[in-house]
Amino acid sequence: MALKKTFCLNHPDRPAIGICVITGQAICEECSTRYEGVNYSREGLRILQARRNAENRLHGWRGRSWLILGTLLSPISVLLIYLGLRAMIFFMGLRS
Ligand SMILES: [Zn+2]
Repeated sequence: MALKKTFCLNHPDRPAIGICVITGQAICEECSTRYEGVNYSREGLRILQARRNAENRLHGWRGRSWLILGTLLSPISVLLIYLGLRAMIFFMGLRS
């Protein structure tokens, strides 16, 4: 049984050295980019980058939403503390 040789998708004359973890394409030395210990084709790397960008946008939005929530909540808590103090002063005044 002969060993089936895999060739690069972009260079049919060159033997593939690996497979892109994203696209599953066979890629040669020139086409592969080793990143974080795994092989990526150029296409795969672009997809990875797009995914990372989408994740960053999501996290960025989450971060901002917490900031908005904090800004909205802080005047409410200040108001509650103020009202609490006013009530305390009012009841103390009633007793004396
Ligand atoms: Zn190639």
